[in-house]
Formats: sequence, structure tokens, C-alpha cells
Amino acid sequence: MDYQAVLEEIYKEIQPHFGEGKVADYIPALSSIDPRQFGFSIITQDGSTYNVGDTQTDFSIQSISKLFTFTLALDIYSRDLYTRLGVEPSGNPFNSLVQLEYEQGKPRNPFINAGAIVVTDSLIAHYQDDYKAFEVILNFIRDVADDNTISFDPEVSSSEMEHAHRNLALANLMKSFNNLDNEPNQAVQTYFKHCAISMNTQKLSRAMLYLANGGTDPLSNKKYLTPQQTRRINAVMLTCGHYDASGEFAFHVGLPGKSGVGGGIVAVVPGKMGISVWSPALNHYGNSHLGTLALQKFVEKTGLSIF
Ligand code: GLU
Repeated sequence: MDYQAVLEEIYKEIQPHFGEGKVADYIPALSSIDPRQFGFSIITQDGSTYNVGDTQTDFSIQSISKLFTFTLALDIYSRDLYTRLGVEPSGNPFNSLVQLEYEQGKPRNPFINAGAIVVTDSLIAHYQDDYKAFEVILNFIRDVADDNTISFDPEVSSSEMEHAHRNLALANLMKSFNNLDNEPNQAVQTYFKHCAISMNTQKLSRAMLYLANGGTDPLSNKKYLTPQQTRRINAVMLTCGHYDASGEFAFHVGLPGKSGVGGGIVAVVPGKMGISVWSPALNHYGNSHLGTLALQKFVEKTGLSIF
């Protein structure tokens, strides 16, 4: 299939929709981003790449980082990790407090904020140091993306820290239920740092290849996870990767995917390719409006949904 032609066709078809959606403004450093940007990248397992639009512009990966921290924690703790968090869709906004209260501080899944904060906390506990844990996370991302220049934007993380009341509330609530080892402030600060990592769609699609290929990067042959662990991560991406619109994403796109409020989305076609799309304006659920539309068009044109 001529993937380049498919991407270019999609790029043309989405043009009338530029201007729809709204950039995330609850993180002040993200609110000034030009919403009229769009990039779509694919990399197949043999390393062939296809790109259209602004695929070299870095953006804040935000919640997409939760995928990498989950991978690291799963590798360290294996199934013991599930004593601290579940794998069920929450059906609630990503930063909801109510469910966490009546479920005694055990987050529904690793991709809502509470779950991701627990995962980050478990990494800090393992490395006994928050700076070390962040270094491991950043190096892991550099490794799977095969790019040593990847870094984080301190302006974005400090901007989030200044408006951290809700995430700190989640962390404090979990601490009160003994589901946090470190101080809430420390866990949340490290969480914001990995959310503030900057990448573009070329780097992100590359970083998805290990998840498309049973846990082993097909280009470097490095093994990160077992095939079984990889299937589980993909399952959690499919059911929980798009906040409380995960059902809708499965319905319209049907690929394991994870989105972030920076407007990025990553997706995996198991056995075939890594995908990343980016456009900063978000829909009502906090997922990239044009990104979701473009992925929907992609599966319609290629038949590459898993269903
Ligand atoms: N750092 C963001 C927050 O905690 C992540 C949000 C997201 O991308 O879902 O609010």
C-alpha cells in the first residue's frame, strides 16, 4: 500500500476542519501554541517512514509519557504493580477525585492521572531518588525513540506545578490510603517533568515500534518487555488510552492508542507499524480533534483497525 499517498490524501481532506477544537489552556505554558498545526508520521517494522505536515515540530507529549512509565514499572514490578492500580476504564475525566475516594485510593488504571502518579511514585521508590527516576524515564524514551537529543521543557513543568492543586489533591488522597510511598509533592513534580518531555511525531512513531512488535524493537533488536506484557499494555491503551472517550476511540479508530493534552496521539498496529499524529486543538474530551479525525480516516482507507 502507498502509505505516503494515503497520508497526503488525509492531509488534504482535513483542511476544512482546521480551526475546530481548542488548545489546552489549563497549563498556561501550553495555551499560547498555534492550533493550526498538524503532523502525521508512520514507521513500519522494517524502518520505512512516511510523514506529512509538521512532523519535525516538537510538542509536549503530556499523557503519552504515561505509556513509557507504565512500561518501566511493569518491567520492574511485574504483576505486583496491580496491587496498587487496576486496568479498568474509569469512565470519568482524567483528573477526577470522586472515584478515587470511594475506591479507597486505588486508581482505576495507569493512564488516568492518579494511576500515572502511582506509577511514577513506584519508580521513585525503586530508584530511591526522584532525579534518578526521571533520568531513567528520559533515557528509556531516548532509547525507544533512538534519539539522544530528546529532553523536557522546564517551563511547561513549572507552569504545571504552579497549577497543581488537583493533581496534588489526588496524590494526597492516595497517600492517606497508603498508596503512595513518597511525598505527594515529589511524586507530582516528577510526574510533571515526564509529562513535559518534548517530542515530534517522527520520534513518537519510532518510539511505538517495540509495542507493535511484541516488546522487542524490530530495528535495534532490544527487548523491553515480554510479548505477554506487551499485549497487556496494548489492551490497556485500547480500553483506557483516551480518557473517558476511550470507547469512542475504539469504536471509530479501533487501534491501541494514547493521547495527551499537548495534542499528540500515538497508536500501534500490532505486527505492522507505529503511528503518531499531532494537532494541538482538542475536542471536548481532551483528545486532539484533528488527530482523532485523521486516524479515523487512516483506518478507513487502509483497513488497518484491529477489528
Ligand atoms: N500533565 C497533565 C496533567 O496532569 C497531563 C494531562 C494529559 O495529557 O492528560 O494534567
